[in-house]
Amino acid sequence: MSADDQIVIVGAGLAGLQIAESLRAAGYAGAVTLLGDEQHLPYHRPPLSKAWLAGEIGAEQLQMRAPEALARKNITLRTDCTVARIDTAAQTVALTNGELLHYSGLALTTGASPRALPLTGGDAPGVLALRSRDDAGNIASRLAACVDNAWPVVVIGGGFVGLEVAATARKKGLSVTALEAAPRLLSRVLAPVLSDWYAALHREHGVQLLLDAQVQAIETVDAAGSPPLLVRMRDGSAYPAGLVVVGIGVVANDGLAQAAGIACERGIVVDACSRTSAPHVVAAGDCTARRLPDGSLLRLESVQNATEQGKSAAAALLGQERPLIATPWFWSDQYDKKLQTAGLSSGADQWVVRGDMVGGSFSVFHLRGGKLLAVDSINATKDHLLARKLLDAGVSPTATQAMDGELDLALMLRTDM
Ligand code: FAD
Ligand code: NAP
Repeated sequence: MSADDQIVIVGAGLAGLQIAESLRAAGYAGAVTLLGDEQHLPYHRPPLSKAWLAGEIGAEQLQMRAPEALARKNITLRTDCTVARIDTAAQTVALTNGELLHYSGLALTTGASPRALPLTGGDAPGVLALRSRDDAGNIASRLAACVDNAWPVVVIGGGFVGLEVAATARKKGLSVTALEAAPRLLSRVLAPVLSDWYAALHREHGVQLLLDAQVQAIETVDAAGSPPLLVRMRDGSAYPAGLVVVGIGVVANDGLAQAAGIACERGIVVDACSRTSAPHVVAAGDCTARRLPDGSLLRLESVQNATEQGKSAAAALLGQERPLIATPWFWSDQYDKKLQTAGLSSGADQWVVRGDMVGGSFSVFHLRGGKLLAVDSINATKDHLLARKLLDAGVSPTATQAMDGELDLALMLRTDM
């Protein structure tokens, strides 16, 4: 180690913190500086649309690490600190306050930003996106006003943000309308069978759900006693709202990397070891697009991806290869249903159900040419854990075996039989 050893991490979210801690776990003794533009210590985002928004957990449970834990690991965290520029030739990062930091290794973990609603009124007060703790605080205040005034809530976008907020608002007894532009819900991440199941679930819980919904504009209403917003649709219908939550996807925060000449394509392009096109620069989490062996790019926006890419990135900074091979997984909580997915179902040519779809505890096995691609489980954690093992091991049950609830699929993993 030389006195110049200094790893700088831009973005103090999940991936950034993972890199810092993995470096220390691997015995790196140089300086580790984590720069974050938010005012908060690193926090968990998933509860912002679920348990925290529902009031079931407090703010202290959002925090990932206490300051003392970071200090013990000799990780320097600077909050409210925005990086303005990177110079990969000089190996420096410039902060917006003019300060210049040298790096021997640089990690970009800048996350993603909500896509803005490109419509008249898309930025009106009370039309809110959900990404950060501050966003969630604003939404929570507006939800409270909706409860006090019996105003309805409208969510635009039937992805995870929209649906999780819809479920939370229903838990609070609010009237909720969800507007999805596509013909089905969650189309980016789930197969049609589960889109239909989620549509039925939300309707059963009283959400007014519109698919193929074309929002035209959002108007601000200034009439005493009425909800302050009106969502106008292209077909002439309109929905009053005390709060409009916009969850129409995210855009990778790759502007710094682009300006520095680092290869970007829908995100900072990284290889399986989280290396970018620039020497000594890695990237991890929602800001990345990973190049796969067939040349295509994979963008994943999940806790597991940020964590695993973070581990690979730390290894790469230490000159080691730790390619990301783990089966992708994520979860979502809506009402009393926990979705847990393993693998990626796109490209499947067959799906079968194991368990009780009507009763709400089941798994959908997705196959292509008889090969298992993914398993989406609802309130079936045992299936999910097993699915990850099957996918990791490359073991595929046949469709008939997968559907047979009496058959112990774990036996397929035993090598002694
Ligand atoms: P982030 O957590 O976004 O961190 C990036 C940080 O970098 C941010 O703090 C950002 O402000 C900062 N930054 C950006 N630019 C700069 C700069 N120039 N200088 C300094 N700092 C900068 N995933 C799941 O798997 N399951 C879930 O149930 C789930 N629920 C979610 C619920 C919500 C409401 C949201 C918003 C996300 C959810 N996710 C979930 C997704 C998951 O939280 C993200 O995939 C994960 O947080 C990505 O981590 P990250 O470190 O890449 O990015
Ligand atoms: P998302 O999953 O990409 O879903 C956005 C949805 O909004 C898509 O179905 C999209 O349809 C639709 N849409 C786009 N424009 C629209 C419009 N003008 N009117 C109505 N609908 C429109 O994104 P998200 O729900 O906003 O989530 C943002 C991020 O948070 C993602 O990274 C997500 O993974 C993460 N997150 C994850 C979880 C979880 O894993 N449980 C929970 C919350 C958030 P098209 O696809 O047709 O554009």
